[in-house]
Amino acid sequence: MAAPIAATSEFALTFKVLKTCSVTKARTSILTLPHAVVNTPVFMPVGTQGTLKGLLPEQLEELNCNMMLSNTYHLGMRPGQSVIDKAGGLHKFMNWKHGLLTDSGGFQMVSLVKLSEVTEDGVKFVSPYDEKEIMLTPEKSIDIQNSIGADIIMQLDDVVSSTVSGPRVEEAMHRTYRWLDRCIKYHKNPKSQNLFPIVQGGLDPELRRQCAAELLKRKVAGYAIGGLSGGEAKEDFWKMVHLSTDLLPQDKPRYLMGVGFPMDLVICSALGCDMFDCVFPTRTARFGTALVPGGELNLKLQKFAKDFRPIDENCKCPTCLRYSRAYIYQIIRRETAACHMITTHNIAHQMNLMKSIRESILENRFPQFVEDFMVKMFPAKDYPVWAVDALKAVNIQLPS
Ligand SMILES: [Zn+2]
Repeated sequence: MAAPIAATSEFALTFKVLKTCSVTKARTSILTLPHAVVNTPVFMPVGTQGTLKGLLPEQLEELNCNMMLSNTYHLGMRPGQSVIDKAGGLHKFMNWKHGLLTDSGGFQMVSLVKLSEVTEDGVKFVSPYDEKEIMLTPEKSIDIQNSIGADIIMQLDDVVSSTVSGPRVEEAMHRTYRWLDRCIKYHKNPKSQNLFPIVQGGLDPELRRQCAAELLKRKVAGYAIGGLSGGEAKEDFWKMVHLSTDLLPQDKPRYLMGVGFPMDLVICSALGCDMFDCVFPTRTARFGTALVPGGELNLKLQKFAKDFRPIDENCKCPTCLRYSRAYIYQIIRRETAACHMITTHNIAHQMNLMKSIRESILENRFPQFVEDFMVKMFPAKDYPVWAVDALKAVNIQLPS
């Protein structure tokens, strides 16, 4: 086994690579943050208003989740920065003692707010809460995130939809590192909060290269890969992830933003990403869909009315230990309890998947794990072309 790559310690985190897969670019590491020691690759569930929809902080703890994401945009609007300040930060406010990451608020603004305008100064938008015009600048975003106090905070970036191409993408990339410099300068808590820049550049390899090269000139604790998972073709998505991890240093964590489908987590771990977040497992639970090895169960379907098995017979989550598919089917249209039950299971499913990924890397059998995962998901071996290509790029040939 190669010597572990030295941990970085001039920031509010250390990152120690325990083992790198001998075939793919996957690695398993220990990310030590002010509030948590996190094993990577890690999936971070998303809590929107400082809580996960359908789950209490202590329930997340019980599922062995010690790192979650919270949206700055919503917290900055409601309850607002002064309430967060009075509470002494979000950890205390929501009674969450573990790792926390906040986004910059920029993405929400562009995706949720119709009237937003980007200038060099920042993003101007009309608040959906009180119709007032608000300017989110790089400084304001960092100011709110300093109040929230998350272990990892994100720079404000100029967000462009991944389906947009042309000069707007290049403009956004250049603005992203100008805004990064303003964020670094304004950041008040570098000893207790880690500021991550975001690799942008859309679907253009040359722009991605340029952006990464600029970011590498700055002193930062880790890197996010952004501007993906927004409706672009999967063929483009995996190539940009693959390129980005090649450009980023080995000894810093790499966070792929907005990715959370089980197959994407497996493939992007193989491509060398360490951290992921997505609303998918909690959102899909609210529609009655449970994640299981090999796919999903829509528990609203009549066929589950007399199915007395748990959602997943091998899952040890509180839902699977206590309730049957038939019971959940019975209450799903009338009780929010069913949503809580499925959410609990789905988070447990993601946590277990990441644990299996980490263990298989550590035991040097990750390529076999990937093959088994894919065959379980596609028993007829009709894998999506992009997945075959992505895995081929890291030396995994799926069985035909
Ligand atoms: Zn379960």
